[in-house]
Amino acid sequence: MIRLNGVSVTFGRGATAVNVLRDIDLALASGETLAVLGPSGAGKSTLLAIVAGLERPTTGRVAIAGQDLAGQGEDGLARLRARHIGIVFQAFHLIPTLTARENVALPLELSGADDADARAVAALERVGLSHRLDHYPAALSGGEQQRVAFARAVVHRPSLLLADEPTGNLDRATARMISDALLGYRDETGGAVMLITHDEALARRADRLLRIEDGRILTTEPATSGAMAG
Ligand code: ADP
Ligand code: ADP
Repeated sequence: MIRLNGVSVTFGRGATAVNVLRDIDLALASGETLAVLGPSGAGKSTLLAIVAGLERPTTGRVAIAGQDLAGQGEDGLARLRARHIGIVFQAFHLIPTLTARENVALPLELSGADDADARAVAALERVGLSHRLDHYPAALSGGEQQRVAFARAVVHRPSLLLADEPTGNLDRATARMISDALLGYRDETGGAVMLITHDEALARRADRLLRIEDGRILTTEPATSGAMAG
């Protein structure tokens, strides 16, 4: 599902160049869950942006869903994202002028689906928000907003679900609900899930755990408790 070979990212040049990712090799198969842990500034968000096709590597190769990203223009990358990738962010990133169902329907509408609203409603029902369909984000709690964001990320059934600190702004109970939904997505669909987190307990529920620091992979651990944590 994901293959990174020798990926480096450098911002700036000369004396002010910052090596944010250094020679990263990473593979993630369909049906696998991966957690990425590391201190602030380690390069986690940059890694996610690379995997999402939102950022291009300075050197190295990236392939997503069997397609080499180097051969894709911006339109190709946008199409790849729209078909194969869903992303959940820490700060929700809902559009404030759209209702919950409109937020979830938007990516489907942009890709020309004629049943966007019905599928948006079904996805919101799946996350227990059938009573919040016509609410605007400002009228929703943080946990509800993240459930809308999750529904938006999965409404097109992506084969790759990405999350960047998805529980960072949530209380414990809500964080648990979102974590269950993210990890459950693999069981439900057989897709791949990659999540960035500061939360060791959440990270340990993934099949594999990758620690990065200063742009390098320190360790890759098979999670020992993933199978029983459900
Ligand atoms: P993390 O998600 O682990 O906190 P990031 O990937 O956000 O780390 O950032 C890693 C480093 O890269 C930080 O030092 C950050 O300041 C730097 N960085 C990120 N994006 C840019 C950019 N567009 N230009 C310059 N430096 C950047
Ligand atoms: P279908 O499987 O026919 O699309 P469902 O009622 O199972 O219908 O799901 C409706 C929508 O909800 C789908 O687009 C699906 O991607 C999304 N969805 C919402 N929550 C989840 C979840 N936890 N796991 C998988 N899909 C979900």
